[in-house]
Amino acid sequence: MQINKLGEFGLIEKIARSAAVSDPQVVKAIGDDAAVVSLDRTACLLVTTDILKEGIHFKKAFSSPFVLGKKCLAVNLSDIAAMGGTPRYYFVSLAIPPDTQYGFIRELYRGMNAQARRFGVQLLGGDTTASQDSLVVSITLLGRAVKRQVLYRHGAGPGDLIFVTGTLGDSALGLMLLEKGVRPAYNVLVKRHSDPQPRIEAGRALACSGAASAMMDISDGLAGDLRHIMKQSGVGARIFLDRLPLSAAYRRECPKLSADWYLPALSGGEDYELLFTVPRRNEKRVQALAGKLRLPMTCIGEITDTKQGFTVLDERGKRLRLRETGFRHF
Ligand code: ADP
Ligand code: MG
Repeated sequence: MQINKLGEFGLIEKIARSAAVSDPQVVKAIGDDAAVVSLDRTACLLVTTDILKEGIHFKKAFSSPFVLGKKCLAVNLSDIAAMGGTPRYYFVSLAIPPDTQYGFIRELYRGMNAQARRFGVQLLGGDTTASQDSLVVSITLLGRAVKRQVLYRHGAGPGDLIFVTGTLGDSALGLMLLEKGVRPAYNVLVKRHSDPQPRIEAGRALACSGAASAMMDISDGLAGDLRHIMKQSGVGARIFLDRLPLSAAYRRECPKLSADWYLPALSGGEDYELLFTVPRRNEKRVQALAGKLRLPMTCIGEITDTKQGFTVLDERGKRLRLRETGFRHF
């Protein structure tokens, strides 16, 4: 069977089935934003890894190597944030094409080091090899969390509210601007794409508060990622389009870049915001937390029972249908 028939998640499911984990210390193996391994009675280790490949995840022309280095670490930090953990140590593996300038790699590490200092993480090792054509950066990040506070994708229950941090779709629009050849000296959408801000503080605060029931980060787009919470929690979900949190820049630029005003926010990737569910009785606690952290946390919908599947309602309460290429009205 050709791999594209299986799809990324079909493949991962097969891999997971072929490698059952029997170690009782392992709390969560494949299937969440990070693996969770018990350390002692109260603490656990979190482990996550992500590859960024030139041509697939980044283009050298779209950002400086310094900013790219920051992003490579940020996407991993975001997965630790998604579990409610504290990031600690990381390893960097590089596959480098032979014509690469040393200055590029030096700047890449300067960016990673700057990000590492900001989040209190330290580089402990890695691996280096040659690549025939494109640069590959793979980072493994270790973190720590309080075992009973960790937030998984599987904790959502019917009636819970669905929240997201920050705003959605900015990164997708930023990428569209870059692909159109727009190279502004500074553009807030481009910055959201090239230099995402991992929500470590919010993730920890949510985990610590006990207010949320499930959490993950949005790397592949809200609609796609919410399906992971649905599948693993055995629930459905209903999203209200008019509640999606949009930035001023999004509202200004989206009509010029996208046929539908909501598509980049609903299914555009790489926002690295947190997506989490909250039992209704905890709603006020989440609002208080958002105020304290000065980070918007917006209720965009609710968890339903699994029979109701995934629905998106527009401004007039009309259902949109998910198609492979995106959403469209019936
Ligand atoms: P995220 O987008 O949060 O980084 P992914 O969708 O990449 O998560 O991965 C989902 C889960 O599948 C994670 O537990 C990850 O470790 C696991 N996974 C992904 N690729 C592989 C692989 N090739 N082999 C084993 N596990 C994998
Ligand atoms: Mg993730």
